[in-house]
Amino acid sequence: MDRKRDILKSLKIFENRRVVVVGAGISGLAACRFLLSLGAQVRLVDAKAELSADVLLKVTPNPAAAGLTLEAGPHTAAQFADAQLIILSPGVPVKKLAPVLADVEPWRVVAEMEFASWFLDEPVIAITGTNGKTTTTTLVGHILSHAGLTPFIGGNIGTPLCDYLMQDDAADVLVLEISSFQLQNCRTFAPRVAALLNFSANHLDYHLDMEEYLAAKLNLFARQDHGCVAVAPQAMRAELEARNYTRARREYFSADTDFACPGLPGAHNRENIAAAWRMVRPFGVTEGQARAAIAAFSALPHRIEPVGEVRGVLFINDSKATTLDSVAAAVRSFDRPVRLLMGGVFKGGNVADILPALKERVVSVGLFGASREVFEPVLAPHFPVSWDKTLEKAVRRQFSLATSGDVVLLSPATASFDAYTSYTERGRDFARVAAALMDQTDAVNNDAGVQA
Ligand code: ADP
Repeated sequence: MDRKRDILKSLKIFENRRVVVVGAGISGLAACRFLLSLGAQVRLVDAKAELSADVLLKVTPNPAAAGLTLEAGPHTAAQFADAQLIILSPGVPVKKLAPVLADVEPWRVVAEMEFASWFLDEPVIAITGTNGKTTTTTLVGHILSHAGLTPFIGGNIGTPLCDYLMQDDAADVLVLEISSFQLQNCRTFAPRVAALLNFSANHLDYHLDMEEYLAAKLNLFARQDHGCVAVAPQAMRAELEARNYTRARREYFSADTDFACPGLPGAHNRENIAAAWRMVRPFGVTEGQARAAIAAFSALPHRIEPVGEVRGVLFINDSKATTLDSVAAAVRSFDRPVRLLMGGVFKGGNVADILPALKERVVSVGLFGASREVFEPVLAPHFPVSWDKTLEKAVRRQFSLATSGDVVLLSPATASFDAYTSYTERGRDFARVAAALMDQTDAVNNDAGVQA
């Protein structure tokens, strides 16, 4: 029993202490579970008034006896007044809580990831960036496994770090995806290897400006020391060096890599691969091991994912493209004419910035749902642009325009909440329409066969 977390659990270091957890999602519930194991009195708060206390049963069979309560509905200052510590779930923007936290010392407010990191013995690889976090985090974990190590892959994706702390098995290395929301509330977190994949306009609906967004990202490197490695894009080298952003050894990557990976197309993925290699090297992974692992890696769902082909027209689901940069990256991944589907809740940036990329391949644009007023004025002077209320209508319209060899690409540049609950639901809807078009085509072909 020499793991930090086991000792601290045995000591019940939060006994009789009040901790407030904000957000009843999977990370918030995991934080509650871990806090109870440390002896804390936990108040879970969530802005959704309709949330039932049954949610607490996911944490423990007898919440009242365990010291766990729920307060659902608009946040109040009183909910936080007696808290020793306030733990924020990853999706909770601290700024939105500012009015109710006005009297709370800022150091009492921490991200779930920061809190969990206090109890770790294992080395951490932490990955942030505007685009490519999930792909690269998964790839890094895949390479480490291939090289015979036991990684834990989680954080923002899959299993929350607090849940990992409740497991008996220990990993050799933790590979964590981290968002800028979380980084804003990290005070001690110092990963052995930290990576910034890229940086472009995103979440400007939340962050004050690009400077604040970049400052949040660079917080990942701020407490690394000489034994650590910082991985960042070559394209940002001068800007980062001028900021003297870390004491760690710095490694810069570009798309200039010779690791082949058929499952990850495009120059942007070559950057992800080059970054991943720099992240795994400090753990003794050889070039040969990395090469074999990378070659065997396949695309993740909803990220430039082929979902079908109808009469030579390829349907690609890139529903996870919620930023302009990821749309440009997707378009550039093809050497065939692209019919691009965009629309949804725009998160900021300058649409004109991606015109050069779009002009290389795009032959028509099908807008759907929200943000027509953002895209149409910029794109219509350069491409045939249509608009439909629903994604389905837009897909069918683009397919009717397409000829064999074209790509119908859903790469929306937006969040999905105008019409869907998530990007996965949007991606599945796209795949459903593509499948329906395939079935229709098969039926027509079969009928033709019968008549012939
Ligand atoms: P994140 O977790 O940061 O949202 P994902 O790996 O889920 O990243 O990919 C999100 C979108 O960004 C996908 O459309 C993907 O094709 C695209 N993408 C992945 N890597 C990059 C990159 N390095 N630059 C630009 N876009 C990228």
